[in-house]
Amino acid sequence: MLTAEQWTEKLVEVVAHASTQLPPDVMDALKRGRDAEEEDSLARKALDSIVLNVEMAKGAWQPICQDTGTPLFFLHHPVGMSTRMLVGAAEEAVRRATAKQLLRPNAVDPLTEKNTGHGQAPGIPTVKCEEWDGEGVEVKLILKGGGSENCGAQYTLPNTALKADRNLEGVKRCILDAIYKAQGKGCAPGIIGACFGGDRGSGYVESKRQLLRPLPDHNPIPELDAMEQDILEKGNQLGIGPMGFGGKTTILGVKIGYLGRLPACFFVSISYMCWANRRAGARIAPNGEVTWLS
Ligand code: SF4
Repeated sequence: MLTAEQWTEKLVEVVAHASTQLPPDVMDALKRGRDAEEEDSLARKALDSIVLNVEMAKGAWQPICQDTGTPLFFLHHPVGMSTRMLVGAAEEAVRRATAKQLLRPNAVDPLTEKNTGHGQAPGIPTVKCEEWDGEGVEVKLILKGGGSENCGAQYTLPNTALKADRNLEGVKRCILDAIYKAQGKGCAPGIIGACFGGDRGSGYVESKRQLLRPLPDHNPIPELDAMEQDILEKGNQLGIGPMGFGGKTTILGVKIGYLGRLPACFFVSISYMCWANRRAGARIAPNGEVTWLS
């Protein structure tokens, strides 16, 4: 197996991929959105600028947005591998990627209000480790911009104002309300990751895990798949559009998961991801060979 130093360098590679390019499915969705907007509309111009910006960043290995966000690593590792080592490697990878300007120094100590200067602080990056029976390690990473994080929301059902009960219709009302309230902030067109059930902490984690899913995939649960398609359609009928300029492209995708809940609680946790849906995945074999995932 690789050493901690070698793991660190592998994770820097994953950060570089995530920071400087968009997954092809996200680019395709942005281009489809641009082509659907009216000629000469602000919406079309905004999406044109976004696509051009991403294309320019890719060749130059430069971050596609000035805010490189919070890195969230989701790792699967073989039985017996040290999660402490993997977390340490991820933290060091963030510091090195920041020194290489692949990430912005993005970590502020809220007590002193000073920027740590190297992109890492307690809780940054977030690293979730899970054991699996596979060989090697699977790394999935998202870089989640601060503007989009501000647009996340958590609801408790029932919700009288939304006439939302403890059922799938109630969940749908909450998600559509969150899209409406974002009003293009957090850099629309966005992608919605949502979770119903769980507690206040686990619900948000699962909502972020949903953001790892490629846009064209389908939820294996038919009711949730139908709800994802329905919210995508209704969300885009709100007319908010890219950056809130009006138009047909307010969201690019909706991904919904669920967790068990306590009888007393029914949370709907929603994470809003901006158009800069920086998502990278890799399988790293025991000999260090990297296979990139879509
Ligand atoms: S919300 Fe996303 S696109 Fe907007 S500034 Fe932040 S990272 Fe960039």
